[in-house]
Amino acid sequence: MPTSFSGGCACGAIRYACSTEPSFMGNCHCRDCQHATGGAYFTAVAVAESAFRLTTGTPSVHEKKADSGSTMRRMFCARCGSPVYLTNSARPNFIVLYAGSVDDPSWVRPARDIYTDSAQPWDYMNPELPKFTKMPG
Ligand SMILES: [Zn+2]
Ligand SMILES: [Zn+2]
Repeated sequence: MPTSFSGGCACGAIRYACSTEPSFMGNCHCRDCQHATGGAYFTAVAVAESAFRLTTGTPSVHEKKADSGSTMRRMFCARCGSPVYLTNSARPNFIVLYAGSVDDPSWVRPARDIYTDSAQPWDYMNPELPKFTKMPG
């Protein structure tokens, strides 16, 4: 894993830099993440908020209460539509990046599957990863 990396949206209007390695990575199969990604699940790369900075642009925000009661803020590019990162009020010290926004996502290694209760029948999961039906505590 790199100790610093960068990323952004598809058109380059939003760019960020991270000055630390990710704290955790995983796949979320909840309905909100299906909507936000347009796919079967969201591959999350979480970094410490203190090590994250936007270097270009200002993302648009979609805010929604999660079923856990916490507030999810999903940041995306208004110009190209790419999701870039999200924040969760339950974990204010983390920025959660969409794995595909990382400039070189080849090192990303999701370590678990969460909200598998909401996964679609056509969603394929790595059988070797630990599974959690909701958010693990
Ligand atoms: Zn863009
Ligand atoms: Zn989710």
